[in-house]
Amino acid sequence: FEAIIKEESGKEKKDLTQYKNVWVFAEQRQGKIMPVAIELLGEGRKLANEIGVKLCAVLLGNKVEGLAKELTQYGADTVYLAEHELLDKYTTDGYTKVISDMIEALKPEIVLMGATHIGRDLAPRVAARVDTGLTADCTKLEIDPEDKKLLQTRPAFGGNIMATIVCQNHRPQMSTVRPGVMDKAKKVENGAGEIVPFSVVLEKDHIRTEVLEIVKADKQQVALEEAEIIVAGGRGLGKAEGFALLKKLADKLGGVVGASRATVDAGWIDHDHQVGQTGKTVKPRIYIACGISGAIQHIAGMQSSDVIIAINKNPGAPIFQVADYGIVGDLYDVVPALVDALDRV
Ligand code: FAD
Repeated sequence: FEAIIKEESGKEKKDLTQYKNVWVFAEQRQGKIMPVAIELLGEGRKLANEIGVKLCAVLLGNKVEGLAKELTQYGADTVYLAEHELLDKYTTDGYTKVISDMIEALKPEIVLMGATHIGRDLAPRVAARVDTGLTADCTKLEIDPEDKKLLQTRPAFGGNIMATIVCQNHRPQMSTVRPGVMDKAKKVENGAGEIVPFSVVLEKDHIRTEVLEIVKADKQQVALEEAEIIVAGGRGLGKAEGFALLKKLADKLGGVVGASRATVDAGWIDHDHQVGQTGKTVKPRIYIACGISGAIQHIAGMQSSDVIIAINKNPGAPIFQVADYGIVGDLYDVVPALVDALDRV
């Protein structure tokens, strides 16, 4: 089928052997590297080692050279640095053009981007521009030991199955990866990587939109993926107001509030808080599940937490099977008692 499409489109077949190295798009906002880029450097290092190629970071922006140094400290062998005043603020057209130009010129084997708002916008356009495929929203990446192709796993059919996808005859192999799923690369003081400037060809005419102003959303942003402590509530709360009690506990611990889908569907809390297969994947140091039964779709989003504490009045609730500590009881007794105890320390 693919061969027929190729013939009909009349495009030349790519010489796949020219494609080398693993690339990570180092997404930065306002001069800060996004945590998902560090996670991708951690994962990219494993993939690069398995194929026996270099790990490269791709950094776009204006006056961001300082960040390039930081990327070498996170293990990038090479940082391709594309600086231009038109790359100061993210635009789909500008970033797509420059990354596509870089891919055409330097031919990476694998390109990874975070499944953030920017990554989800950028990756499909770049993939279309360089005539390759894209597996979006991956939760697992592996190298096939036989043929060294990238095995990209992601939830499919509304989260009911996990599908593993291979990019057969196109390069680069491109994936967006959910934030919070992969382990972060460790920082070393003296990164030995090199910084290679890329000469950007970009004019105003290439960019069809102009960013006039960046206005922060009114609603409080929930940085669930970056939180060290999450206090999550489920249907066991019984009412929307129950989340105020969880917020009290979260505030005491310096954490944030998460939620099961049942509570989001009930309209008790915004979807931004949802943890699970159709919500966010989180990996905090401590995850406290209050009145959450432990459905597989919820567990999928929080099982990698370092320590899981479950509070549930049903001793047979499946959440206790993944919990490190379990408290059988009414959350309306247990949570106030915890807040009280924390008040006294
Ligand atoms: P319930 O399953 O109703 O559990 C409530 C729990 O609270 C019970 O265990 C009960 O014993 C306990 N309880 C009740 N009162 C108290 C009390 N006073 N004190 C202590 N404990 C109490 N779910 C997600 O969470 N995230 C997802 O991303 C997600 N994606 C999905 C995708 C698909 C395709 C499908 C089919 C489902 C998805 N779900 C998801 C839904 C999931 O299957 C469950 O329905 C949901 O997680 C249940 O939420 P819950 O645990 O809050 O509610």
